[in-house]
Amino acid sequence: MSGAPVRTRAATDVSFSLAGRCPRCGEGKLFAGFLNLAPACDKCGLSYDKLDQGDGPAVFIILIAGFIVCGLALWVEVTYEPPYWVHVVLWTPLILGLTLGLLRPLKAVMVWQQFRMRAEEGRLDNG
Ligand SMILES: [Zn+2]
Repeated sequence: MSGAPVRTRAATDVSFSLAGRCPRCGEGKLFAGFLNLAPACDKCGLSYDKLDQGDGPAVFIILIAGFIVCGLALWVEVTYEPPYWVHVVLWTPLILGLTLGLLRPLKAVMVWQQFRMRAEEGRLDNG
């Protein structure tokens, strides 16, 4: 992160993170591709170098999508007892839709939270 964080109303609004906007100014683009972060904000210059969440969004997506799909699959199986191909036809598109659809917004929310909470890599204090 470069410079002191500038607190604005826009930057504290989660809707800007869902829209893929800069966590500091709320105007610049956060993403350079589908999931790749841009190197820096094109409006305020905030560097996104240290805003890396690793597998954080994937973990939440596994939990959310797994809960939804497993719950629905169990309900359909118990209620209708359909053949297995019905499960494949129903759940494959839902799994793909949920995982791909949630990945970018969840990554943006985590970047926003990381910036807002000033979270960074832990360091040993040897002093
Ligand atoms: Zn910005």
